[in-house]
Amino acid sequence: MQKDCIFCNIAEGKLPSGIVYKSNNIVAFRDTNPQAPVHMLIIPKKHISKISDLNEEDAQLVGEMVLVANELVKENNLTEDGYRLVFNCGEKAGQAVFHIHLHLLGGRDFNWPPG
Ligand code: AMP
Repeated sequence: MQKDCIFCNIAEGKLPSGIVYKSNNIVAFRDTNPQAPVHMLIIPKKHISKISDLNEEDAQLVGEMVLVANELVKENNLTEDGYRLVFNCGEKAGQAVFHIHLHLLGGRDFNWPPG
């Protein structure tokens, strides 16, 4: 836990959030500035600043994040229409919160390439 990290504080229940999933290692909650009808963030409780900081021992954790996304996809009936999973890494790629998070976006059409 990093004291001044907003997502660590959400994971610890110290900041209010729209939690949709919680386990020993993972928390998921609604994005406060949704970019799609369904927009949730899946985070590990462990503080990792950037995807590029991951190491071998985090492989299972990242796998769990994707499996949680799959559960949320089912709960929100997104399987058929499709959805997008996104990790932004670094400021130039749009990362604003430096605690890794997987965006789950769904409920509308998406363009490619992304902006
Ligand atoms: P990124 O730009 O990839 O770092 O994404 C950060 C995301 O966190 C943005 O979509 C924000 O809207 C979202 N966000 C920031 N603060 C909060 C918060 N307190 N609760 C939920 N989502 C947040």
